[in-house]
Amino acid sequence: MTSTEKPDFDVISVGAGFAGLALIHYLREVGMSIKVLDRASDIGGTWTWNRYPGAMTDSESYYYCLMFSKELLQEWSWSARYPTWKETQDYMKFVADKCDMWPHIQLETEVVAADYQKDSGLWKVTTESGETLTCKYFISGMGMISQQIIPDIKGMDTFKGPIFHSSRWPEDLEWEGKRIAMIGAGATTVQMVPAMSEKAKSIHVFQRTNNFILPGMQREMTPEWEKEIKENYDEIVAKCRNHVFGMAFDDAEGRLAVETPPEEVERIFEEKWTGSFRWVFETFDDLLSDQRANDMASEFIARKMRERVEDPELADLLVPKVGDYPLFAKRPPMDHHYLEQFNRDDVFLVDIKDKEPIVEITETGIRTTENHFEFDIIILATGFQAYTGALEAFPIRGESGQTLAEKWQDKSASIMGVCVADFPNLFVITGPQAPFANLPTSIEQNAIWIAKCIDKMEKEGYDVCKPRKDVEDEWTAHVADIHSQTLMSTGDKVHSWMMGANIENKQPRVLIYFGGANNYYDCLDKSVEEGFPELEFEKLAS
Ligand code: NAP
Repeated sequence: MTSTEKPDFDVISVGAGFAGLALIHYLREVGMSIKVLDRASDIGGTWTWNRYPGAMTDSESYYYCLMFSKELLQEWSWSARYPTWKETQDYMKFVADKCDMWPHIQLETEVVAADYQKDSGLWKVTTESGETLTCKYFISGMGMISQQIIPDIKGMDTFKGPIFHSSRWPEDLEWEGKRIAMIGAGATTVQMVPAMSEKAKSIHVFQRTNNFILPGMQREMTPEWEKEIKENYDEIVAKCRNHVFGMAFDDAEGRLAVETPPEEVERIFEEKWTGSFRWVFETFDDLLSDQRANDMASEFIARKMRERVEDPELADLLVPKVGDYPLFAKRPPMDHHYLEQFNRDDVFLVDIKDKEPIVEITETGIRTTENHFEFDIIILATGFQAYTGALEAFPIRGESGQTLAEKWQDKSASIMGVCVADFPNLFVITGPQAPFANLPTSIEQNAIWIAKCIDKMEKEGYDVCKPRKDVEDEWTAHVADIHSQTLMSTGDKVHSWMMGANIENKQPRVLIYFGGANNYYDCLDKSVEEGFPELEFEKLAS
């Protein structure tokens, strides 16, 4: 092996969303040349693909952003508690403009293969056009929820109207005044229905599993609120870094629901019912670990949900019963008046679990075991192959010639979600077995770790870093152990994407580190302090 071959770039990264921008920032700081490739025609990642009506963040705007520059935090103004996809994308363009990032970004470039070259220690990256580029470090910033799932429903290719996945919204689609079907009742559908019900002719939601739905309680940004945020950004940044979910939330002050009198539990639940995921983390510390506490929370949410649905039979279908499955075994959607839409006479719920499963899609609509429904448009809001999907969608081949997809066939394995044994000089932003947390926070923590690792290699003259298999085994076992102590480990029974249990013919698996994002960030920092003991560094003969 020799290190004489000069790569086209020090770093090639895939994905021009938050991860791509964070990588450009942190890797430029350590003197690397970096090219970010993306198949999309614009930057934004998730927020360039998910542009369906109603698409907006479920995290509050002022900390769902990159925090590397105090100046940028002060300069940008958010218009609301939860920004739309467009506003988030505009924010990313603002960052790219301000920080002169565009020269590092190459759009409309789909990567179709990445191969580690043992002899040179370089990665060869092949694009759809057949071009090959080489780099010393190959990084995935492809996003943890980006690879869409297209269900295998008989007759799908016979439908005469538009039929598409929610994350591939056709730009010129005319949906107003049309009869619309939505297959799936997850976070995406919960956002689409209220945004479309007024103008669609009708909407039918084909629901398999119902969800615990948390209220968003959207509100406009006011000058006073913005001032308060901007005066306190240091504290907000610190809160995100130190929170179990990477969000600028307060904690539950050690309260346990199971040790609190019922009337006090009710009072606290009610007092904190102010919108966002805050409610889960600011009320009690045992909601996600103790079934009894989880039942109390589920019961409260179910009651709140039922109050909004006029027809009790419909409420039975829309609202999970306590005991069906734990709150957070599936990621709860964030609601902006979804449930009320079913009180209209042009929004319908079709129970495809127990009452009338889908049989086929026809030229003109959807046939269930009981009915044939006619539609103009069918939207597949059927979710994503989270964490591993994008990394398995094209061959990424490591030192032994095995692809990531082959390696992860039975179970996922990584070191802190950021690197993988047998894949030298490959890094992943928010890969499998990283936490599920406020994504910009996790992305930046990963980018910092990667930049520091690369900086060490460059300063000390290393050509290759090899993630240690024994450390990978340890991390994988540690993540599985923590996972088994939470109620999220029951997600396989309700097709949760958090366990990959929404993918047909694939074994559910542990995909997420549930030990707290703050503790995970501590692990990353400790690794830096100790000189990256998870990796073996090598110099090639020159
Ligand atoms: P999802 O939550 O995984 O929901 C997919 C839906 O499709 C489920 O109702 C599922 O039913 C149904 N489904 C899947 N395959 C089906 C089939 N073959 N036949 C019938 N129904 C089928 O997907 P999503 O709504 O796109 O959301 C995914 C994640 O993306 C969210 O949890 C969230 O993390 C993220 N997201 C975030 C935002 C935001 O932050 N603003 C917005 C949207 C999405 P089962 O439940 O029975 O499997």
